[in-house]
Amino acid sequence: MMLLPCPYCGPRDVTEFTYGGDDGTVRPGDPQAVSDARWVSYVYIRDNPRGPHDELWQHSAGCRRWIRVRRDTLTHQVLSSAPAAQPVQP
Ligand SMILES: [Zn+2]
Repeated sequence: MMLLPCPYCGPRDVTEFTYGGDDGTVRPGDPQAVSDARWVSYVYIRDNPRGPHDELWQHSAGCRRWIRVRRDTLTHQVLSSAPAAQPVQP
């Protein structure tokens, strides 16, 4: 069982959350001005980091708010969390 600390609700089981992706992914600008290769990269290509990683999660079965989580992908230890509007603490 993995607990994610929702900044609004407190620690909750990960099954209450929906993974929203890598926090570092930046959506490209104007779709008409961006190459197909750039869109393919944005939609499909992801790093597979080992160690601390910033992620977006939605507390979909709770308060429904988006949060940022810094999680060690090797140990699954949650290092910090914050509302999505704020950066996570190192
Ligand atoms: Zn919540």
